[in-house]
Amino acid sequence: MSPAQTTPLSIPTPTSPAVSSIAEESVVTINQPNSNNPLSAQPVETMPAPMPAPTPSSRSLPSSPSSGSFLESVLEALLEDGTVTQEQYDSIILENVNTGRPAEQILEEKHIVSEEALSKARSKVYNVPFVVLREVGSSPEALSAIRDTVAKRYVIFPFALNRQTNTLSVAMKNPLDLGVIDFLEKKTGYRIAPYYATLTELNQEIVERYAQSLSSEVTAALKENSPESFSTGVEIKAAAARNVGDTIREAPIAKIVETILGYAVKSRASDVHIEPQEDKTRVRYRIDGVLHEKLVLPKSVQDAVVSRIKVLSDMKIDEKRIPQDGRFNFKVDKEEVDLRVSSLPTVHGEKIVMRLLKKSGGVPTLQELGIRGTALKNLEAASIVPHGIVLVTGPTGSGKTTTLYSLLTKINTPKVNIVTLEDPVEYQMLGINQVQINPQAGLTFASGLRAFLRQDPNIIMVGEIRDQETAELAIQAALTGHVVFSTLHTNSAAGALPRLLDMKAEPFLLVSSMTLVMGQRVVRKICPNCKEEYEPEQAVMEDIKKVLGGLFDGWAKQSSTEVGSIKLHRGKGCDECGGTGYKGRVGVFEVLVMNEKIGRLVLERRPAEDIEKQGAEDGMVFMKQDGYLKVLEGMTTIEEVLRVAQI
Ligand SMILES: [Zn+2]
Repeated sequence: MSPAQTTPLSIPTPTSPAVSSIAEESVVTINQPNSNNPLSAQPVETMPAPMPAPTPSSRSLPSSPSSGSFLESVLEALLEDGTVTQEQYDSIILENVNTGRPAEQILEEKHIVSEEALSKARSKVYNVPFVVLREVGSSPEALSAIRDTVAKRYVIFPFALNRQTNTLSVAMKNPLDLGVIDFLEKKTGYRIAPYYATLTELNQEIVERYAQSLSSEVTAALKENSPESFSTGVEIKAAAARNVGDTIREAPIAKIVETILGYAVKSRASDVHIEPQEDKTRVRYRIDGVLHEKLVLPKSVQDAVVSRIKVLSDMKIDEKRIPQDGRFNFKVDKEEVDLRVSSLPTVHGEKIVMRLLKKSGGVPTLQELGIRGTALKNLEAASIVPHGIVLVTGPTGSGKTTTLYSLLTKINTPKVNIVTLEDPVEYQMLGINQVQINPQAGLTFASGLRAFLRQDPNIIMVGEIRDQETAELAIQAALTGHVVFSTLHTNSAAGALPRLLDMKAEPFLLVSSMTLVMGQRVVRKICPNCKEEYEPEQAVMEDIKKVLGGLFDGWAKQSSTEVGSIKLHRGKGCDECGGTGYKGRVGVFEVLVMNEKIGRLVLERRPAEDIEKQGAEDGMVFMKQDGYLKVLEGMTTIEEVLRVAQI
């Protein structure tokens, strides 16, 4: 086998034969005599595999090994070709007789033979061909015949399509399952030629190749033009000298970039990462806060793709040694998207990150963000206090800025003067004076804030308190009659207070200026389309009860749920959620209100734990608790809450 065959790249490099050409050939392709697998070398004429005749009453063959003859044959086949010794054979038969457990199961559990040897033996006994998936090329055409969710559910992988015989070759976990074959034939309209493959390989290929199915579009773009047209960035540069808008569709590279961006919009991604690696270029999308690898580009097009993006975002394309920033506007299906682009030189080339900025109008309300109950009441009360600081805390990507926008939208009336200092301006809001900071030009959070204080605003939003100077100015602004909204990079709400003291804030001034601190994280919501109920393990329920404490009884009472019969929810994965089981996001929050007792702890410079303890006594619900309540209500999963709680 050639190296090209072993690489699971689904996009051919321009000089290699297009991988998708396998689709036009017959399934014989995989049975080439030079294959090192003797079983896969059977002539294709034996297809469809003469399988043991199904009994009319049951659509499925004896797939779960419980009856004797088939299983013994597999074992016997392994004995026959010497994979299993007589001794091993005897001990398996003995165990089979003693325990009644199927011989194949015993074989698998004891790892006596490799997965591949077992699959091959099955292939021989049941007369269904065996395929090594990593040795067959990817066929976008075959891939598109069966959706990834179906592939995942039945553990099957379509790898070749023969249009002449109308046959789709499918590797299956259990090729004897006529029910699945029947279903696939009805669904696809093709005759299904089933193959054995190892389970490990199936699971791996299903994930990898479907993840790259976006690549079929890109593959098409690559095939449109001859290889030399994207060997350098020169042509792109020349095109850029003309009108970018006119040339965006011209070159295949432009088409690739367009496809990458179009997919970002379609999949509701917030960021696109184009990451050069040693031998390939990885494209990852951040969707609902989590990065997904969706595309792998051949290394040969990397420079051209990066150059195209740099041209679009007005960066210097010949400058590759220093980071650059830029932005551009992209239109897909009448939807307009602003992109903020940054480049970073890495050892394997320039890495590009594009952030998709939403246009105004899409700011969610506080309730839509998932803030509720006492937390909502406290936050609303704090936002109408005439002066003081309202802080939102959390790590990067925890939705802090969105929360600030929601707050601003709520209080934005013609009677108040609202100014913001942002990095970047993510939403453009009507009636608000938004300023983008520009450190190179000397406009930082601190210098901007200083200028603001001379402009007499009522409400100031400062993107982030990063340093002592900004902290001091924010406190000063609050003490002189302004409302200040800002964010701070701390894990918990309580942690913000000691952090500000670390930034040399004067404890007394801090206590007098602070109104409220809210900690937050974002979790993914269960996809409503494929949501299912399940019974949680005892240990999980114990953990939930322990974390929630008194809140648990309150919840059980309020929802009149019997404690013994609690069900949790999860998403099975469907087309609507791209197989992830999640769609959309919701926040989990904790709100700490500054009061006399908390103030005293700050003056005493006590640690965050002490402040948290006092907060709990005052009725504060912690983020993890809020998350667990949202789990009990079927909004998200326990795994999601634990994922973000550990940050
Ligand atoms: Zn779904």
